[in-house]
Amino acid sequence: MHETAIVSGLMKILTEQAALHGVARIARVNLKVGRLRGVDPRQLRACFELFAEETLADGAELVIDEVAVRGRCRACGHDFAVPRYRFECPECKGQDIAVLSGQELYIDSFEAAAAEPAGPDERRH
Ligand SMILES: [Zn+2]
Repeated sequence: MHETAIVSGLMKILTEQAALHGVARIARVNLKVGRLRGVDPRQLRACFELFAEETLADGAELVIDEVAVRGRCRACGHDFAVPRYRFECPECKGQDIAVLSGQELYIDSFEAAAAEPAGPDERRH
């Protein structure tokens, strides 16, 4: 399954990055996913929950920011939102389109969970 491979890669990066930054627990992961990736956010989230179990990202929230597809016509230079994989310039009908966005797939950022205080902490109330 497509999503399994993606999440497996994400977990690897998260584990490495967390170790690098001394993060013991991850509370939230902000992911950028371009629409050209053909990823189903619901499946991706479900898959992430499974993979994260009993890891430092257990229970972490996966926030998926879907990036719209934009293209630029190489003939006339027009920038436009690409509807439904229709790579045709609305201005000149050219079909030589450079993809500007929509192919993203990366961790934008992640947030560490607050460390549990060693003793009772009144500020939490
Ligand atoms: Zn054009």
